[in-house]
Amino acid sequence: MNDEGIRARCFAALDVLCAQHGIDVPYRGGLDAGFRYGPTKIPFLSPQKGIFHAAAQTGPAALSINTSWKSPYGDAELDEGYLYAYRSGALDQPDNRALRQSFVLQVPLVYFVATRPGWYRPLYPYYVTSDDPTERRVLVSPGQMVGPFDERAAAPLESPIARNYAVRETRVRLHQAVFRGRVLRAYASTCTICRLKESRLLDASHIAGDLEANGEPIVSNGLSLCSIHHRAFDNDLVGVSPDYEVHVSRRLLDDEDGPMLELLKTFHQAPISVPTKRVWQPDKERLAERFHRFVAVSG
Ligand SMILES: [Zn+2]
Repeated sequence: MNDEGIRARCFAALDVLCAQHGIDVPYRGGLDAGFRYGPTKIPFLSPQKGIFHAAAQTGPAALSINTSWKSPYGDAELDEGYLYAYRSGALDQPDNRALRQSFVLQVPLVYFVATRPGWYRPLYPYYVTSDDPTERRVLVSPGQMVGPFDERAAAPLESPIARNYAVRETRVRLHQAVFRGRVLRAYASTCTICRLKESRLLDASHIAGDLEANGEPIVSNGLSLCSIHHRAFDNDLVGVSPDYEVHVSRRLLDDEDGPMLELLKTFHQAPISVPTKRVWQPDKERLAERFHRFVAVSG
């Protein structure tokens, strides 16, 4: 079987999964189905092992690598990519051999980063751009898809500037994804105001913005909100008081414009639902600061 064909099919199948699930894909009910190459079903990754080489591949290089939820920042970030560690054991045990062959052959692979338990963000195409057997780790860097829409092919990014830029972009998005993953998990994937339970429509909003001094990406600085409530919260049309009560702005309350607005209004003075675990509950000091602004703006 054609190794290049398998990789191309793998990327195309991931495009489809990302379109279905959003940019983070669940393992169960998503990645676990694998992808088809002719009559053969091929897994995307091995969550237990990290480095994955499929039995159906003819080439010796890894098809994917993954980083577990327990160490979302476990792979050290450099300007040009991420340092990915060999497996423990012999230098030439099969997984390490597959990883190192990715460097020798310069073939693209998928870098799966867990953003919450059981969910991965697939980054592809990635390339192993250096190999350090003394430190027992490789550097993986982003590549790009080139060519027309129906014949896209993976290619490395040759310029260090383009690589640095791509890594920086990825890093920001990954950190956002990890924050979102933590907050949604704490809130059991529910909007804290209206209880909507559809993770594709849920965001993790910051209470103190991420540019502010106390805006750290920790769960107690977040609220799980549906898209509408997120937008309303960001625009001070809806506020949450430090005693966890929803306040709808005067402007919305006085407006009379259709059923959607009526729905928004019904949550006025209703309690938000908060996680049972104390450390996850919204920080009252940050809420007070934010609520102060809401009151000032919304009157
Ligand atoms: Zn909502």
